[in-house]
Amino acid sequence: MTTPSLSQIINDPSCMDDYDPNSMPVAQARTFIRQFLSPVTTIENLSLRDTLGRVLAADILSPCNVPNHDNSAMDGYAYAIESVAAGESATTSLKIIGTAFAGKAFNAHVKVGECVRVMTGAVIPTGANTVIMQERVSIAGDSITLNEAQKQGANVRYAGEDLSLNQMVLAAGHLMRPADLGLIASLGIGELSVFRKLKVAFFSTGDELTQIGQPLASGQIYDSNRYTIYGMLSRLGVEIIDMGVVRDDPALLENALLAAANQADVILTTGGVSVGEADYMKDLLAKHGQVLFWKIAMKPGRPLAFGKVAGGSSTNKNTAHYFGLPGNPVSTMVTFYQFVREAMLILMGQNKPKPLPMLNAICTGNIKKMTGRTEFQRGVLYIADDGLWKVKPTDNQSSGVLRSMSEANCFIVLDDTVGNVAAGAMVQVQILEGII
Ligand code: AMP
Ligand code: MG
Repeated sequence: MTTPSLSQIINDPSCMDDYDPNSMPVAQARTFIRQFLSPVTTIENLSLRDTLGRVLAADILSPCNVPNHDNSAMDGYAYAIESVAAGESATTSLKIIGTAFAGKAFNAHVKVGECVRVMTGAVIPTGANTVIMQERVSIAGDSITLNEAQKQGANVRYAGEDLSLNQMVLAAGHLMRPADLGLIASLGIGELSVFRKLKVAFFSTGDELTQIGQPLASGQIYDSNRYTIYGMLSRLGVEIIDMGVVRDDPALLENALLAAANQADVILTTGGVSVGEADYMKDLLAKHGQVLFWKIAMKPGRPLAFGKVAGGSSTNKNTAHYFGLPGNPVSTMVTFYQFVREAMLILMGQNKPKPLPMLNAICTGNIKKMTGRTEFQRGVLYIADDGLWKVKPTDNQSSGVLRSMSEANCFIVLDDTVGNVAAGAMVQVQILEGII
């Protein structure tokens, strides 16, 4: 069955089986979002170091064998295994005929009964096929005696063992990490084709929000969401367009929304998507885009809006993806990690982004939980004295309490089918360490 378009779903939700915008399961929301993502396609060539955190736009095939030659894995002596009669290593004496260093080969042929001293990384001289560690021989004058038997090929690293000529090294869609920089450098490649950076514009909405540096009037709070979002976006390596705080004023919101749509691939906003408040965002999004509004069957983070918004200028008809996140500071972060993060990675060009790592751990506290929705509790994961992984839920699980998000290093994920959890029970934990 082909997926209906965003406007078909907005105009006639019954065109989708099992579609209930007021009780949208987490997994179904993720699937919906994936269907409407258009990844960046513009490619740029960057020097190797600059590709860290970028997504490859083309497959990389190995232009050579790595390593290039058979070489020694140890400091020791290279010889032909044929020098040693079966079971007679202790009585075999080999004459040392020279030394090979890493980067400085020994250029004569090694005959039966001879050996060459080799350093780690040195090319194995012709005629030799086996290396014995220097600690396993006795030296007498210019000869060695082998203290133990070796298998043919012992301590030899073969040409092409790491990568062979024309082997696929990294596929298009791969996100470049530190090991990849080294891997590509080991092939002698200095420049790569990657997708351009994703541009993400975001603003906070709310009349109660004050910028840092201004005094707080009664009933006002400081805008914290733009800071957590800044942090989370920075970790993803996207280009960030921070558009500040926008008042709950239809004209200001419309200006900000269109300015964002004109220049960004993705627009993120927080606040103003829950039902019941001065609901200007909803009308504006209907006017300028195609946006689905959901109540996700999860806690925290119930309201979520997703869709596309068209730019407003006559010269620029850019269409941006839109995510409207709930305003509560913890809800903002939870919905970002559960929905926006994966979507961003796909938009950056990754084919199949890896989900946040999951682990089973013993829960140290009781948790009250209703079935029928997924809960993401903040938790502190640790290795207990008995060597087991345990997780302690943070004290305050309110969606407005950012302090507990700061304490946490994981989410305790309690899915739809899970009810109350008793202390000592096994729970699933989603690890944020290294990602946050
Ligand atoms: P809303 O989703 O707009 O109804 O906001 C829900 C709650 O989150 C309200 O208590 C807001 O004051 C709070 N909130 C909204 N935006 C922010 C923000 N940028 N920083 C901190 N708190 C916020
Ligand atoms: Mg608000």
